Amino acid sequence: MTERVQAVRVLLVEDDQSLRQFLATTLAANGYAVAEADSCAALQDSLQHHSPELMLLDIGLPDGDSLAMMDFIRASSDCSILILSARDQDRQKVEALDAGADDYLSKPFSMEELLARLRALMRRRTAPAASVWSSGELLVDVKRRAVEVEGCEVHLTPIEFRLLVALVNGDGSVVTHARLMEQVWGRHLSENTHYLRIYMRQLRGKIEANPAQPRYLRTVPGVGYALIRE
Ligand code: CA
Repeated sequence: MTERVQAVRVLLVEDDQSLRQFLATTLAANGYAVAEADSCAALQDSLQHHSPELMLLDIGLPDGDSLAMMDFIRASSDCSILILSARDQDRQKVEALDAGADDYLSKPFSMEELLARLRALMRRRTAPAASVWSSGELLVDVKRRAVEVEGCEVHLTPIEFRLLVALVNGDGSVVTHARLMEQVWGRHLSENTHYLRIYMRQLRGKIEANPAQPRYLRTVPGVGYALIRE
């Protein structure tokens, strides 16, 4: 008996017609059920008629900036949002992530990369937050509050540990400076990312074999940090 697999519902919001058609065709060929929108108005309409699990969201749309709709989107749907942004929109990426987007891709991107990101977002939706994260020589046991490098326990301060857990929860996606500061210190420290840099340096010193060329703790300039698997 063949198992009937429910197609994952994706809402594709993009006003560039040729890009949208290409993405829609490729996503459908990869088993996704795709709905399309080419403007803020169409996005609003689609959200009411479909209940997407994933959303691909272009920022610049003909009737406005989709980031202005993040509150509306978040209030009407729990879909995971992947922002599609032009390379020069760093500030907007940060705003989008802070407003509740889950990840972003800079144009131009490869279809393989897009499909990998979508799979990762779906994994995060369905899997409970991991209590043990490991890659290569690094192991983080969130429940036991233990970190090991090459099988040896490493002592982290409470702040360093909270920072690492915030990145574990990001599971490979970039976590913005503001989100990290909120999760680690419980409040926004304005635009000052100075403390974050200090703690990140300490953390790298403890878990990276070569802190100057980190394998796990990646800096995403102007945006935040990501904990990546090798
Ligand atoms: Ca656009």
